[in-house]
Amino acid sequence: MVGGVIDTLPRRHFVAASAALALPGCAATTPRIAPVALACLPRVNVSADRVIRTVAGLRPYRAQGFVVRAEALGDKRLVHNYGHGGAGITLSWGTARLAADLGLPGHSGAVAVIGSGVMGLSTARLVQEAGFPVTIYTAALPPDTTSNIAGGEWSPYGHFERDAVTPEWRVQYRAARDYSWRRFQIMVGEDYGVRWLPVHAEGAPRAASPYRPGEQALAPGDHPFPVERVNRFETMFIETGRYLRQLIRDVQMAGGAVRIRKLADRAELATLPETLIFNCTGLGSRAMLGDMDLRPARGQLAVLAPQPDVRYAFTGNAGYMFPRPDGIILGGTFELDQWSTAPVEADIARILASHRALFGGFHCPA
Ligand SMILES: Cc1cc2nc3c(=O)[nH]c(=O)nc-3n(C[C@H](O)[C@H](O)[C@H](O)COP(=O)(O)OP(=O)(O)OC[C@H]3O[C@@H](n4cnc5c(N)ncnc54)[C@H](O)[C@@H]3O)c2cc1C
Repeated sequence: MVGGVIDTLPRRHFVAASAALALPGCAATTPRIAPVALACLPRVNVSADRVIRTVAGLRPYRAQGFVVRAEALGDKRLVHNYGHGGAGITLSWGTARLAADLGLPGHSGAVAVIGSGVMGLSTARLVQEAGFPVTIYTAALPPDTTSNIAGGEWSPYGHFERDAVTPEWRVQYRAARDYSWRRFQIMVGEDYGVRWLPVHAEGAPRAASPYRPGEQALAPGDHPFPVERVNRFETMFIETGRYLRQLIRDVQMAGGAVRIRKLADRAELATLPETLIFNCTGLGSRAMLGDMDLRPARGQLAVLAPQPDVRYAFTGNAGYMFPRPDGIILGGTFELDQWSTAPVEADIARILASHRALFGGFHCPA
C-alpha cells in the first residue's frame, strides 16, 4: 500500500445495468482496442529525475454517496449535485443528467450553476442543451479545481460505503453510471482528450461487467507484471486538463456567462437573480450547506514526463499508472480527513518506489 488506502482496489461494482436515461442524438461507439502485445509491454521509466510535478487534491467524499436532490429556497428551486468522492469525472454526465431532470421540468428563464469543476460544467452543458441560458458562479475556474487533479480513469470507484447508502441512492447511481458511460463514448477523440486504453488490474477474476468490456483473467505468462493475478479490460481515460478547457469553451460558445464569485450560504444563494440554481460546489458544499458528512479524501500523485509508447494502464497494490499525453500519472493515496493540498514528500517517495519496483520487475522476453 502507498501512503494510505490505495484508491483503485478493491473495485466495487454492480453487475446489473440500470434503466437507461435518454441520451439524445447518439449511438455508442465501439471501443478501440489499443494495439498492445499481451506478454510484453513497454516499461514505464520511473525515476525521481523524470518527475515533472507532484500534486495533492481533495476528493469530495461522502460515505452515503453523492447528493442529487432538489429543495425549495424561498420562491427558487435549488438542486444539488455534489459529493462524488473518487468518481466525479466518471459519474459527471450521469449525475448532471439526474440533476437537470430534477430541476428543469416546469422551469422558464435563466439558470444559475454554482461551481466550474466537472460537475458544474457538465450540468451547465445539459441545461444549455435543453435550451436555457446559463450563468456559472464560481469561486475558482479550471485549472484551480479538484477536477483538474483527477487521474481521469473512467471507473466508479471510491465514492460511497456499501452499508451507508439507500436503495433509492443505488437506483440513482446505476442510472448515472449508465448515462455517463454512454455520454463519454461520444466524446472520444483528441478534442476532448478522451481515449480507450487497456487496463491491467491486479486481483482475482471478477464477474463480468458491461463497464469493463473485454475483461479476461491473464495467465502469468501472458503479462509482464511481477504480480500473481491480473485482469485486463478496456476503459476510457480522460485527460482532465484538456477536457475541462474544452467544456468551458463549449459552455461559452453556447452563450454561457461565467462570474467569479464565492457564495457563502443558502441566504446568499437566495439573492441570485435566477430562480433555478444548481449547486455543484464539490467539497465546498460542506461549508456552504453545513453538510458535515462531506469529507476530504486526499489523493497524492507524482507525474512523470510523458512516454507516448506506453498505451496501457495498471492498477494494483503498487498504486496506479495512467499514461496521458500530458504525463504519466502515478497514484495514489486515499486519505480521509486530510485537508492539506501540499504533497507529502515521504508519500510521493513511496509512490515512486512502489512503481519502480513494479516496472523494474517486468519479465519480458529479451
Ligand atoms: C488525486 C485524485 C485522483 C482522482 N482520480 C479520479 C479518476 O481517475 N476518476 C474519477 O472519476 N474521479 C477521480 N477523482 C475524483 C474527482 O476529481 C472528483 O470527484 C471531481 O473532480 C469532483 O468534481 P466537482 O465538480 O464536484 O468538484 P470540483 O472540481 O472541486 O469543483 C467545485 C467547483 O465549485 C467551486 N466552489 C466551491 N465552493 C464554492 C462556493 N462556496 N461558491 C462558489 N463556487 C464554489 C470551486 O471553485 C470549483 O469551481 C480524483 C480526485 C483526486 C484528488
